[in-house]
Amino acid sequence: MPSDAPVGTCLITGAASGIGAACAHALAARGAQRLLLVDSNDDALQALDPGGDVTRFAGDVCDPALWEQIEAQAGTIDRAVLNAGIAAGGMIADTEFDDWRRTLGVNLDGMFLSLRSTLRKAGDGASIVLTASVSGVKAEPGTAAYGASKAGVIQLARVAAREAAARGIRVNAIAPGGVDTPIWDQTLFFRDLVASHDGDRDKALAAMAAIGTPLARFATASEIAAQILFLLSDDAATITGTVLVSDGGYSL
Ligand code: NAD
Repeated sequence: MPSDAPVGTCLITGAASGIGAACAHALAARGAQRLLLVDSNDDALQALDPGGDVTRFAGDVCDPALWEQIEAQAGTIDRAVLNAGIAAGGMIADTEFDDWRRTLGVNLDGMFLSLRSTLRKAGDGASIVLTASVSGVKAEPGTAAYGASKAGVIQLARVAAREAAARGIRVNAIAPGGVDTPIWDQTLFFRDLVASHDGDRDKALAAMAAIGTPLARFATASEIAAQILFLLSDDAATITGTVLVSDGGYSL
């Protein structure tokens, strides 16, 4: 997909917010023939209008019935951004088993189902990007469930890259560090940090970025989307099974 190449049919999970929504807008702007947008937040999904031919699937990526429906309606998939995920935090000794299972369920089981259906419907030469995280690469206290789920996502991408290579299909992972999206507001840790900055969310994000991130800032969702579009594009034609770490140097 050089800038003038056809983009075809693009599937995006977690499309209604943050990185997924930025990818939907970027792929529509690049002339995607059809966008298949998946998210569990039905209201936000209906409100998202990136333009062009859009089919919305409201549902949970962990639900096999949703994927049966998507496989039935998708046609051939040319590009996919498998991106739905939830945040989780907590030291191992303090983590409830239900929270562990929920994190692995959405971030890894959901990713497996998304990837399986995508590979079933992918055309020869398709390109797929899985959203992992720097937490799947760097061991950081308090990230066991989230980090284990994202390390699993990276290995899924690597194995899929080998399995699909004979069809010219490329599979890569992106591992962002901090990105300014609503996902942070899910964590008690971040809500406390915002409260300690008199409710100023931007100051709380800046304070976090100042600790341990050499570039001392978070990415925007649009910046990560542009990097995903590079991996999806023919400019990345020889890149498969890699992890693009985009973390401002956090993991160094
Ligand atoms: P976000 O919360 O803005 O968007 C995530 C979207 O996924 C939401 O629209 C949500 O409704 C959807 N979603 C969640 N669970 C779902 C499910 N079970 N089924 C269907 N949809 C579901 O967050 P984001 O930051 O854009 O996150 C996108 C991906 O990026 C996630 O996988 C996240 O782990 C990863 N990531 C984010 C950051 C960051 O700092 N924001 C860093 C590294 C990795």
